[in-house]
Amino acid sequence: MAGLCKKTLYLTKKHDIVVSMEVMKTYKFRIYPNAVQQELFARQFGACRFVYNHFLRARIDYYAAHKDDPTKKGLTYHDTALALTQLKKAEGYEWLKETNSQALQHALRDLDAAYNNFFNKRAQFPRFKSKRGEQAFHIPQFFKVDGNHLTLPKIGAVKMVVHRSIDGEIRNVTIRKTPAGRYFAMLACRVELPEPQPKPGVVGIDVGLKSFLVTSKGEVIEHPRHLLKAEKRLKRLQRSLSRRKKGSNNREKARLLVTRQHEKVANARQDYLHKISRRLVDENQVIYAEDLNVKGMLANHRLAKRIADSGWGELFRQLAYKGEWYGTDFHQIHRFFPSSKRCHICGYIYQDLRLSEREWVCPECSTTHDRDKNAAINIEIFGCAERTGGTPGTHTSGESGITRSSNQKATRFSGW
Ligand SMILES: [Zn+2]
Repeated sequence: MAGLCKKTLYLTKKHDIVVSMEVMKTYKFRIYPNAVQQELFARQFGACRFVYNHFLRARIDYYAAHKDDPTKKGLTYHDTALALTQLKKAEGYEWLKETNSQALQHALRDLDAAYNNFFNKRAQFPRFKSKRGEQAFHIPQFFKVDGNHLTLPKIGAVKMVVHRSIDGEIRNVTIRKTPAGRYFAMLACRVELPEPQPKPGVVGIDVGLKSFLVTSKGEVIEHPRHLLKAEKRLKRLQRSLSRRKKGSNNREKARLLVTRQHEKVANARQDYLHKISRRLVDENQVIYAEDLNVKGMLANHRLAKRIADSGWGELFRQLAYKGEWYGTDFHQIHRFFPSSKRCHICGYIYQDLRLSEREWVCPECSTTHDRDKNAAINIEIFGCAERTGGTPGTHTSGESGITRSSNQKATRFSGW
């Protein structure tokens, strides 16, 4: 499930009703090139990296040479594409001709995009690509997917593990090699999504230190045990790496183990986040959550750190785009309110609530609260009020259109 990412929306509106929606979905499949193909990939990665770095240098030098001349605006994509054609004819650069020329051109487009992102303040200034980082090249045409094979121009049929069905029309392919040496094909597909059907649920979700998340319905999703284990192993490997002597063979081996484990953790996390986000979106018409920045700034240091590395940010990103795809409104509350300390029944604020208190009894209305579930219910109440422009109910949760029994026991989900 690791491959849903880029989003492009094509909305065709007729009397304000969305008739169809086309999105770009990216599928990520592991590929197993043979020795010869690995060699060809290596050449293509190298050529694309070379072209990117060569023209990054050219653009920097051009700017330095002409920065006082207002008539010179800097090199454009077209300037670099023309220069590339010349470069391939120059002595010593013939090897560039042996690789896929469209992939080389795409490296120039990537460079151009990196410049645009920098100028539009979306990213840092482009950096030179390193042999040690992730390698990639892009093939816009003349590829074919046939069962468990991906056929690429000049490379041939590469074994591919297609673990899920591919929807829509494949528009382009990117080949990646991770720092740990795994190969992947990213297939970007244009997919037409069916018109979303109304869904029964409305839910508030609270993220906290103890569980991964708790919903206002009382469902508890734990941090998945296999992921915690993998993270522990990663920490152990990192410690062992830091003890190795710099430049030694053992250090190199330890570094590879760390890189591999790192990728394993990232993949496993991505997988389970996709499962959770898809299920929440499938079940609910509206999902409410807090803004992680607000929560992180006001909470203690431990929670702020957890927010940074637990994957909630990625989960919320997925909820937002899948919500758009499948017709769920993901609403985040962007201001602070005491979600844990407020009794969702009567509105009483329990100022002295400590982090260790998992349960508390409201002195006003005597309701026993599960700390996280109460917070999630408050998030739903406040989110609903904010979204619909009302004020949150202070005496009964029924005021904001939510009725529930307060003695629901939390359902535990584990074994992701
Ligand atoms: Zn109360």
